[in-house]
Amino acid sequence: MPTSLDRLTEKLLPTETTNVAVAEDHLATLLKACIQCGMCLSACPTYTVTGSEAESPRGRIHLVDLWQQDRLTAEAIAPHLDQCLGCRSCETACPSNVQYGELLNTSRYLVKKETPSHWFATVKRWLLATVLPSPTLLMLARFGALLYKTTGIAWLAKRTGVLSLLPPSLQAMEQLCPPVGWNDAPSLEGGQRFGKKNAPLVLMPVGCVMNTFMADIHHATIQMIVALGFQVLIPKLPCCGALAHHAGELSLSQKQALATLQAWQALKARTIPIVMNSAGCAAHYKELAHLFPSDSPLHAVAEAFSQQVVDVHEWLLPRVDRLAKQLKANNLDDKRVKAIYQPACHLYHAQGVQTEPMAVLSVLPAVEWVPLADASLCCGSAGIYNIEQPSLSQQVLDAKLDAIEATGATLLAVANPGCYLQLRKGLQQRGISLEILHPMQVLARYLG
Ligand code: SF4
Ligand code: SF4
Repeated sequence: MPTSLDRLTEKLLPTETTNVAVAEDHLATLLKACIQCGMCLSACPTYTVTGSEAESPRGRIHLVDLWQQDRLTAEAIAPHLDQCLGCRSCETACPSNVQYGELLNTSRYLVKKETPSHWFATVKRWLLATVLPSPTLLMLARFGALLYKTTGIAWLAKRTGVLSLLPPSLQAMEQLCPPVGWNDAPSLEGGQRFGKKNAPLVLMPVGCVMNTFMADIHHATIQMIVALGFQVLIPKLPCCGALAHHAGELSLSQKQALATLQAWQALKARTIPIVMNSAGCAAHYKELAHLFPSDSPLHAVAEAFSQQVVDVHEWLLPRVDRLAKQLKANNLDDKRVKAIYQPACHLYHAQGVQTEPMAVLSVLPAVEWVPLADASLCCGSAGIYNIEQPSLSQQVLDAKLDAIEATGATLLAVANPGCYLQLRKGLQQRGISLEILHPMQVLARYLG
């Protein structure tokens, strides 16, 4: 395994020919695991709302198989892959251990090679390759959102009905615009430290979109970690590249992963936990090695990196007694609420972090956690699925909102920025008054 920064260069990235050959072999192996039993059907949100076999995990796997046998074209199967949320609920339900997420990403990559590029795909690639990795461009986007929200433009656009003239994707984008304000908590920067100097250290990557638009979640997470006697260092890591990977942009996500691994090596912090509060980014970090062929040196480096990555709920669980003592020290009488927890798919299904969040959140004596029906089903956010597939995303969201409304809760905790925006959009559409917070914000609130 390369051990110094200068050995991790672009020369180590696989060529496009290698990528295609490895992907084809990998896909053949992945397809063999499916025994077509159908146990995944009821776990699939797109099958549940459409009732169509072609929009189920089993159906999609069968379509990919037919395409690999040259009995269907890439154009014929592409829409069904596009309509998949990538939520990986089918993986949890599958008795045959089908690696559906891998199968989907690999198929999307190979399908792109055989289908003509649409203008929207070009714009998306530019966003993934240029805007997300650039803090400056993201801050400009945030400034644009601020102007839109706070100068009356948003009000005017709604009032005049201009928004309803926009294509559904742009309407969805407008509704998903994060709740920015002039006095929001500042974004964090690589190199910042919090907590006492000699306290044990954890690293907390802050990502791209979440750090720009929802930095208050990071501040709450830091407050929690520091309250438990640790020191937090914000590492200088670039955008994780998860969205590029899910879009089938393998070469781009490999380059982004290489940048992450170079930055990680430069940190020289091999034994310090990398604590993550964004489910999507953490899932990608934990599976970074999947981007590289198993005989690539980058595969081994990525595996070593992934071993350090831990979801914040996993990290908190062994410290839950200490956390409970911190919370008991505060007066909770005026903060009693009925709440629900919505597991993010990339936490529950992709990372398998299923019981830890509620085990941690249950230490709050002032909060009554009530069950949410079909909680492990996706909310329809799924990266930028809600912009690309607004109609199906809305149907999936509607089912989730029905379940949420039935609980009568006044607080909703969810650990992924995309889910947060999607659920906030849905609650506003229905006029449901319910506060949404990240679990770390809920805990930090009770720290006083
Ligand atoms: S993906 Fe798994 S659960 Fe679904 S049909 Fe195939 S083997 Fe059965
Ligand atoms: S990833 Fe989600 S939407 Fe896609 S097939 Fe699996 S369960 Fe259905």
